[in-house]
Amino acid sequence: MSRLVAIVGRPNVGKSTLFNRLTQTRSAIVDDTAGTTRDRQYGMVDWCGQEFSIVDTGGWVVNSEDIFEGEINKQVHIAIEEADVILFVVDASNGVTDLDDQVAAILRRSKKPVILVANKEDKGDARFNVPEFYSLGLGDPVEVSSANGSGTGELLDQIIADMPEPSEDDKPEENVAKFAIVGRPNAGKSSLINAFIGEERHIVTDIAGTTRDSIYHRYNKFGFDFYLVDTAGIRKKQKVNEDIEYYSVIRSIRSIEASDVCILMIDATRGIEGQDASIFSLIQRNRKGLVVCVNKWDLVADKSVTAQKHFEDAIRNKFAPFTDFPILFTSAVTKQRIFKVLETAIEVYNNRKRIIPTSQLNTYMLEQIAVTPPPSNKGKFVKIKYVTMLKESVIPTFIFFCNLPQWVKEPYRRFLENKIREKWDFSGTPIAIFMRDK
Ligand code: GDP
Ligand code: GDP
Repeated sequence: MSRLVAIVGRPNVGKSTLFNRLTQTRSAIVDDTAGTTRDRQYGMVDWCGQEFSIVDTGGWVVNSEDIFEGEINKQVHIAIEEADVILFVVDASNGVTDLDDQVAAILRRSKKPVILVANKEDKGDARFNVPEFYSLGLGDPVEVSSANGSGTGELLDQIIADMPEPSEDDKPEENVAKFAIVGRPNAGKSSLINAFIGEERHIVTDIAGTTRDSIYHRYNKFGFDFYLVDTAGIRKKQKVNEDIEYYSVIRSIRSIEASDVCILMIDATRGIEGQDASIFSLIQRNRKGLVVCVNKWDLVADKSVTAQKHFEDAIRNKFAPFTDFPILFTSAVTKQRIFKVLETAIEVYNNRKRIIPTSQLNTYMLEQIAVTPPPSNKGKFVKIKYVTMLKESVIPTFIFFCNLPQWVKEPYRRFLENKIREKWDFSGTPIAIFMRDK
C-alpha cells in the first residue's frame, strides 16, 4: 500500500534539511540508482517497521525568498490532493510570517492530516517563539531541529499515528495484476485508458473509497482480468496544473507504488526527456515491472525498422543498466497495438512471479559458473555451490550460496543476472541477486 507524506512550507524554513534527516533512516537501503536530481525530493522512510514515501515539494519550486506566492499555493494544493499526511514546516527562529499565514489558511480547509513542524528549535531563542504558531490554527506545533535531529523521533511517531489506515475494502485482491499508466503530461495516458476501456467504463468492481477515492479499478477486458491504478485521477486531471513537472511526478509516485507493472508512455514526437527518466527512476526504485510504450507512433513519418531500432536503443541507453524490458510502438488514437500492451503487461506480471525449479536453475547456472568463475581476489577463490530462488518475494530473488560471499562484486553479479535473463524470461522485471554463506 502506498502511503505518501508531503513536506510544504515557504523557502528556507528547512524543508530539504528535514527531508534528508527523515530519509536517512532508510538511505542505506534505498538503492543504488542514485545520482538523479530527484533523489533530493523523493525518498522512503522506515520508522519502527512502518514504511512510507516522502516528497519535498519545495524541491521543485524555485527556492528564493521572493518566490511567487502562486508557486507556493500550487505546491500546497498538490500536497493536499496527493498526500496522506502533510508536514507544514515553519521556522521557529523567525516567528509567523505572512506567507505562513497564507499556507495555513489553505491547509485548514483541507481534510488531510496536517502536522505543524516548528523547525530550527536549536537556534537562539527559537523555542520561545513556538507558542506563537498556535495562532495558525493547526494544533500543537511539533518542535524539531532538522539540523541536529532533536524531536524528529516524536515527529515520526506523529506521522505514523496520523496516517490513515487503508480500509479492508480498499485492498485489491491479491493475484490480480495491478497496472499503472504513467508518463509525462500529454504522452497519451488518458487516451490509452480510453482505448482500453472505452468512454464508458467497464468496471467490474469499483471498490468504494472511504476517506479518499479508491485508486484501484478492476476491469475484465479482452480476456484479461486486471486493476488499473488511479485511472480516475488521470481522467479527471486538472489541465491547469499539467504543465508543472512535479505535479505529474508526485501524481506518478502513488500510482507506481500501488502497481505491479507500470506502463510508461513516451511521446514519440518528442523523444526521451528528463521527465521520462525521472518517472523511470521512480519505477526502478520501487522495483516495479515495466513496459515502455512509444506512443503517437501514427504521427511519426519514418516508421522503418531502422527508425524503431534507433528509438529502442536511445531508450535502453537512457535507462541503462536495466535494459531488459519490452518496448512497444503504439497509437492510442488509431488503437494500434493496444491489445499488445495489455498482453505484454500481463507477461511482465507473470515474469515477476516466475519461479525456476531449483534443479533446472542449478544445472544451468553452475555450468555457466564453471565456465566463467568469479575472478580470484588476492589469491582467494570464491566457490559457488548452490543456487535457489526465494518463494515469497516481491520480485524474482536468487540466492547463491558460496564461501566468501563478500568477495563477489557487482560486475560478477551483473554477469549472473545476464545469464539468468538470457536463459529465462524475466523481461520487464527487476531481479535481485544475493550471495550467502552456507
Ligand atoms: P528549504 O528551503 O525549506 O528546503 O530550507 P533548507 O533545508 O535549504 O534550509 C535553509 C537553511 O536553514 C539552511 O541554511 C539550513 O542549514 C538551515 N536549517 C535547516 N534546518 C535547521 C535547523 O533545524 N536548525 C538550524 N539552526 N538551521 C537549520
Ligand atoms: P495525458 O496527458 O498523458 O493523459 O495525454 P492525453 O491522453 O490527454 O493526450 C494528449 C494529446 O495527445 C491529446 O490531444 C490526444 O488526442 C493526443 N494523443 C494521445 N495519444 C495519441 C496517439 O497515439 N496519436 C496521436 N496522433 N495523438 C495522440
